[in-house]
Amino acid sequence: MVNSVSVYRGRLAPSPTGLLHLGHARTFWTALVRARASGGQLSLRNDDLDTARCRPEFVTAMRDDMQWLGLTWEEPMISQSTRIALYRAALTRLHAAGLIYPCSRSRRDVLAAISAPHETDESDEPLYPAEFRPALGTPPPPLSNPITINWRFRVPDGATLSFIDGHFGEQRATAGSDFGDFLVWRKDDMPSYQLACIVDDAAMGITEVVRGADLMRSTFRQLLLYRALGLTPPAFHHCPLVTDDQGQRLAKRHDALALRTLREQGKTPAELGY
Ligand code: GLU
Repeated sequence: MVNSVSVYRGRLAPSPTGLLHLGHARTFWTALVRARASGGQLSLRNDDLDTARCRPEFVTAMRDDMQWLGLTWEEPMISQSTRIALYRAALTRLHAAGLIYPCSRSRRDVLAAISAPHETDESDEPLYPAEFRPALGTPPPPLSNPITINWRFRVPDGATLSFIDGHFGEQRATAGSDFGDFLVWRKDDMPSYQLACIVDDAAMGITEVVRGADLMRSTFRQLLLYRALGLTPPAFHHCPLVTDDQGQRLAKRHDALALRTLREQGKTPAELGY
């Protein structure tokens, strides 16, 4: 009999906010190779919660570019925008456990209050200043419906978190200094990436998350959410970031290195190394 616990299950989780580039190709290819090597399965998750930036044409483009590259996955694709009730149920549990609080500070307020805002990676959350927190033990107000204020998870200051990364080896971070209280729900009534990601990875039975090293710090935040919700975290394998010839990390705005552009220039997946 097959032991279901040992079945490898991975996922490809692009956000349809732009065209996929060489960095996505490397990460997704690694995910495919790892799933195949374990005789496992690979799902496709459409991380489409950023309503201001996600566009349906990028969903079509990402599927098409991934197929062109030779990636395969199990259908149907899972779209996060159809799963809000699941995330809301997790939020309710965090609220009942007194682990979250409402926050009316803007990113600009946070950046103005921290001593070294220039060190903040613009794609990551800045360290939330402790003086902005409500006093410990303050009961949170009820969750409204719809939600019109940001909600944050209070991290256990000074707690050290660690995990063994499949590529980079042992990773450690201290809550409250390497990362601070982070968003779990946004005032536009959408879950944060952190919350939606762990709810889905747990619900989809993902055994290993393969993603870019830009999300390493998020992994520590997510480990706290797994613990808070009594869920077992998957293994993690972060892929080194691909940089351009000036050493800049690839972003979706680097259209020159978009898979679509390379393909239109006549490049083949084999020429890209796949
Ligand atoms: N959707 C995220 C991105 O495109 C990746 C999320 C993840 O793999 O956890 O950056």
